[in-house]
Amino acid sequence: MRHICVLGSTGSIGVNTLHVVREHSELFKIEALTAHSNVELLAQQCQEFHPRLAVVGTSDAAKSLKNLLSMKGIQTEVSYGPAGLVEASTMADVNTVMAAIVGAAGLLPTMEAAKAGKRILLANKEALVMSGDLFMGAVAQSGSELLPIDSEHNAIYQCLPDANTSNGGSRGQYPSLGVVEVLLTASGGPFRKMPLAELVNVTPDQACAHPNWVMGRKISVDSATMMNKGLELIEAHYLFGLSADQIRVLIHPQSVIHSMVRYVDGSVIAQLGQPDMKTPIAYGLGWPHRIHAGVESLDFMKLKDLTFEDADTTRFPSLNLAVSALQAGGCMPTVLNASNEVAVAAFLNHELRFTDISQVVERTLNQFKNCQASSLEVILEADQLARVISSQVMKEMSS
Ligand code: NAD
Ligand code: MG
Repeated sequence: MRHICVLGSTGSIGVNTLHVVREHSELFKIEALTAHSNVELLAQQCQEFHPRLAVVGTSDAAKSLKNLLSMKGIQTEVSYGPAGLVEASTMADVNTVMAAIVGAAGLLPTMEAAKAGKRILLANKEALVMSGDLFMGAVAQSGSELLPIDSEHNAIYQCLPDANTSNGGSRGQYPSLGVVEVLLTASGGPFRKMPLAELVNVTPDQACAHPNWVMGRKISVDSATMMNKGLELIEAHYLFGLSADQIRVLIHPQSVIHSMVRYVDGSVIAQLGQPDMKTPIAYGLGWPHRIHAGVESLDFMKLKDLTFEDADTTRFPSLNLAVSALQAGGCMPTVLNASNEVAVAAFLNHELRFTDISQVVERTLNQFKNCQASSLEVILEADQLARVISSQVMKEMSS
């Protein structure tokens, strides 16, 4: 039986995780749920799944949650803040952590879960982008199992040799096992075809209207700028130990092939499915077994075209920024992520134009003096400093 903590249970991935869990009550027991501010939904989830612990962002949110729970007569303990998140992800009863908080806020509880040897289902790509080698080191040292939930990485994981090796054991060895490159597919988002001159005026709602996937607002904007693919390239580098030139981004607007692996003998192995996150979530929850995900099966008669094109880096400058951050190494991936988080939040708040998101990231990367990502403290400092620089850059841009 998997005893599960869902970090970010009220988000898009969190809710889909609980959908799959609901279908398999004999396999899964929810021990802890966390949310930032949506206490109503979290209270409903507690009513249904009866976790031992529920965690929210602030002491005020904790008070409201306690009130709601006591009105419903629910026994769940309530905690809050970063310490509460770590308490949830490292609880003795928990053996599996779904890391589905968005952004840097997920790093600490996910890292602590890795150190504690929990099985980690990783959706929170920002945590890995920030802490790369340190995180993979923690996984290897504790013997924790790491299963990628991001659909592309889950697809690659399924297509690589030795997919049973979940502890990073095969990491870095894939070229010697005949892997030439991985083909990271991308839909190209809602603005793939929009005239370039119109991009400057797009609104947050337009950016969040993804053609194929329903997701949280931050990752939806990342998909529209293609920073999401840039973060995923870095994610693939750390997860599978591949260099940037062994990871090729391929635009595939239909989002049916979720990614592929090309082998030295000419074989290309792909994973296909509906664009529905319940498939990779069920893969991670059920691993090493396959379980029903509640996803419509793929009907080949309804697939008209599977098309492919190269990514246009004039339209999507964020992709190149991610590659340079990866190549620079050290704290630059952390800086890339932090400045992108700041810029996307400003765009979602109508304080920054869509096309300025990549400008903010580029200028922040240029201003940051790189350092070794030698410890979590250094990484968190770099994250904070990058946020300060990005805010200054945005001020300069608006004056
Ligand atoms: P979302 O915005 O829908 O949900 C985010 C969750 O994180 C919520 O439960 C929220 O309460 C919690 N949260 C937000 N800020 C927090 C903070 N400061 N402290 C603690 N908790 C906080 O996001 P999502 O779309 O579910 O994405 C979650 C993660 O999964 C992201 O890293 C994203 O890149 C990744 N991911 C999502 C999808 C998808 O289809 N949605 C696909 C691949 C990867
Ligand atoms: Mg993805």
